[in-house]
Amino acid sequence: MSFGQGKIWMDGAFVDWADANCHVMSHVVHYGSGVFEGLRCYDRQDAGPGIFRLQDHVKRLYDSATIYRMEIPYTPAEFAQAIVDTVKVNGLRSCYIRPVVYRGLGSMGVNPLNCPVRSAIAAWNWGKYLGDEAMENGVSVCVSSWRRAAPNTFPALAKANGNYLNSQLIKMEALQNGYDEGIALDSHGYVSEGSGENIFLVRGGVIYTPPSSASILPGITRHCVFTLARELDIRIEQHEIPREMLYVADEVFFSGTAAEVTPVSHIDGVKIGNGKRGPVTERIQSEFFRIIEGKCKDRYAWFTPVA
Ligand code: PMP
Repeated sequence: MSFGQGKIWMDGAFVDWADANCHVMSHVVHYGSGVFEGLRCYDRQDAGPGIFRLQDHVKRLYDSATIYRMEIPYTPAEFAQAIVDTVKVNGLRSCYIRPVVYRGLGSMGVNPLNCPVRSAIAAWNWGKYLGDEAMENGVSVCVSSWRRAAPNTFPALAKANGNYLNSQLIKMEALQNGYDEGIALDSHGYVSEGSGENIFLVRGGVIYTPPSSASILPGITRHCVFTLARELDIRIEQHEIPREMLYVADEVFFSGTAAEVTPVSHIDGVKIGNGKRGPVTERIQSEFFRIIEGKCKDRYAWFTPVA
């Protein structure tokens, strides 16, 4: 099932992709009032299709909704089941899943409280976000001229639709200048994250990543990197990262549901390390892939089986 085909779960029922419409006067269209998630389902060797870190994504979705005072009219367990059902109904084994919860048609004006909270879940096949080749050779990125929103402006911990206007500026600028992705700094000038990925750098064998106070989304893949680094006995620290530390890093890599674990080869034209995937990145990445491909036991119970 590719993008544009199959069934979408909408407010409790499955509808054809073409009929999954939302009114043009819905609050979300005008004011960005929605929260969402991005998950992946992997077709694991032997174990079959499994949704990766389902409960963690559902938790973050409900947290995002809480921040924006949206009451989702389902329990987290019901919503999680709807995500599983969406994969099943579409007969997918390996896919990307996009749940969205948004303010629908009610009244106009900034006050969202009179608009119904609506939800939808779509799923489709989606390959490597930053390209197949990137997994080994890395991506070439720039430091964006756009900053992440300052603390207490747009809450970074919420995965809210409106936040992605900032991500779009970062992404468009990067692409237009010939880069694969952009890295944003936070309002203080410290490294924050990519337009849709968390960032890590390696120096002297230690992994560093910005803390949640650096306007980052608390990534679920980022959490996997922490878990795997500790298991592999690699020191990992959350630290404010000055921009210039990127250029002198031994290795840099991204993490994200879409990007998985992707090495960064160049930043602003500066070669990072040897300009290829470095050894620490490779250890984390290969362990991550062993787990998602089902080549080892799901020892952290990261998967929810679809069958
Ligand atoms: N930061 C941003 C801005 C993102 O959009 C994403 C993707 N959801 C991430 C980080 C990575 O988060 P996760 O690992 O949970 O996908």
